[in-house]
Amino acid sequence: MASITAPARTNVILLPRVNLIRGDEAMQINCTECGEKSIIRTTQRLDAKMSKLYCICKNPHCGHTFVMDLCFSHTLSPSSNQAKDIVINLLRALPEQERQLMLASL
Ligand SMILES: [Zn+2]
Repeated sequence: MASITAPARTNVILLPRVNLIRGDEAMQINCTECGEKSIIRTTQRLDAKMSKLYCICKNPHCGHTFVMDLCFSHTLSPSSNQAKDIVINLLRALPEQERQLMLASL
């Protein structure tokens, strides 16, 4: 069987456009009460796609502490690992002769 290698990825988006900013000490999020930057003090990972972020507002006149939920929404571009599995499963689903034709055409 021919080996299948994925080309270098050029369309990967590393961070979603959300209200998170990479700071010097920790990820930051805006306070839900005053809008100022807050610090994520603790993260409770519930599973691979869901975490609770325990935050404290940096505004000394506010001091709001709160919990935000961070969850996976959807995939924009599949992982290279997922693409490889999809191709392998599709090839396995083909009859042997068609599979050989597909591999020969690569
Ligand atoms: Zn605040």
